[in-house]
Amino acid sequence: MSLPEVKYTQIFINNKFVNSVSGNTFPTVNPTTAEKICDVQETDKADVDLAVKAAREAFRLGSPWRRMDASQRGRLINKLADMIERDAKYIAALETLNNGMIIGTSFSKTIGAVKVLRYLAGWADKIQGKTIPIDGDFLCYTRYEPIGVVAAVIPWNFPVSIVTVKLGNALTCGNTIVIKPAEQTPLTALYIASLVKEAGFPPGVVNVIPGYGPIAGAAIAEHMDVDLVTFTGSTEVGHLIQQASGKSNLKRVVLEMGGKSPNIVFADADLDYAVEVSHKGIFNHSGQVCLAASRTFVQEEIYDEFVKKSVARAKRRVIGNPYLETTEGGPQISQEQVDRIMDLIESGIQQGAKLECGGKRYGDKGYFIESTVFSDVKDDMRIATEEIFGPVQQLIKFKTLEEVSERANKTKYGLAAAVYTKDIDKAISIANTVSAGIVWVNVYGVKGGSVPFGGFKMSGIGREGGQDGLMEYLEVKTVIIKQPGRSNKK
Ligand code: ADP
Repeated sequence: MSLPEVKYTQIFINNKFVNSVSGNTFPTVNPTTAEKICDVQETDKADVDLAVKAAREAFRLGSPWRRMDASQRGRLINKLADMIERDAKYIAALETLNNGMIIGTSFSKTIGAVKVLRYLAGWADKIQGKTIPIDGDFLCYTRYEPIGVVAAVIPWNFPVSIVTVKLGNALTCGNTIVIKPAEQTPLTALYIASLVKEAGFPPGVVNVIPGYGPIAGAAIAEHMDVDLVTFTGSTEVGHLIQQASGKSNLKRVVLEMGGKSPNIVFADADLDYAVEVSHKGIFNHSGQVCLAASRTFVQEEIYDEFVKKSVARAKRRVIGNPYLETTEGGPQISQEQVDRIMDLIESGIQQGAKLECGGKRYGDKGYFIESTVFSDVKDDMRIATEEIFGPVQQLIKFKTLEEVSERANKTKYGLAAAVYTKDIDKAISIANTVSAGIVWVNVYGVKGGSVPFGGFKMSGIGREGGQDGLMEYLEVKTVIIKQPGRSNKK
């Protein structure tokens, strides 16, 4: 397959592609080869100010966007979904170029983004308040209103999915938005910006500003005229964003961050099935998934067998060129990530876990790491406590339901969890007691536009997806009106 042509490399403000104020650019790289793809205009504080100003102007009372009927907003979002679907093959190829995601996943994530936008578009004219009975002669009702200028800070692992879910939520609720893609992966967000214009959204409603986190991201987080920051990324940066909100205008902050998700396999589970689902749960997208099944607890009766089968499966995993349909795993995103992962693998060996397979770099170009499996992992090892974000599976032994219920929660994170068993009581017990925003029973990773997703503890604040997700993008206003009394006295 020939590599896709890059069409947009400039900042998108007010429906126009423009150069940065400084004229600076930054390179974007293909992680499969470690070669530069092209240079992209770099957003600095001055460009953030221009983008926020455009978004504020588009949100002004009486603007075309504010005057637009909610049903028409829904139509525009559906139109954008149609265009993404029309160009899905190109968008998927561009995502694979910039991110290294295998082409099948890039394509299914792009189609998934189309579905999410259509789901959200349906909500646009169904956001409604309540009439609330209160004491006295009063009429009380609530209105759900847009918050204003939303800023979205996007990670590099699933650019199309995360750009579209944040954009879709913001626009469905009638907000305007400034989107900062991750510095590693700006290209698909810029292409989607061109579709926003083609779909007919008024200028300034959507703005896309590629640039570095500590510069453009920080300028967003501390901006006095941004009303909400919705962020997906590391817990470290989540701290910074919340601090910046506290130091500036107390903008609302929604955070979706890291995880160290327990994946609990009881002895009565279907063994081969649990091995396969657990394998995919950690190795999908080369482990670069916030909800990865990164702590697999296996009951002692089946532990040795589970390890043997998991190692055999990891050894069979095909990694390499992400454009080939037969490839299961592509590269890591960057040298920096490779270095972090290799350091954690080394720590696992040093701390006494058993390296069953992998553990080394793979190939002679690009950012590849072998599929790696550790057994005899103990709860306090770094590989069992820190988010690795790489193709590294941890197999941990447990004895009883009570014990694993407690150990599963011994983490600062609380994003996702899974349990495999034929015993409904065990499944419900884990589902009830685990601290996680989403729990899967006999499956892993299933999600959709209608499903609330987010973290307990240091995995997050707020939810993305479904009706709960929409609420993050709305203000609730209560209106109380004096009305004629029941006795009709004036
Ligand atoms: P990862 O560890 O997955 O690379 P990061 O949390 O570093 O995730 O990055 C996620 C997003 O946060 C990116 O868009 C990045 O540019 C942005 N970012 C990084 N540092 C900051 C910061 N100091 N302030 C605001 N945004 C930031």
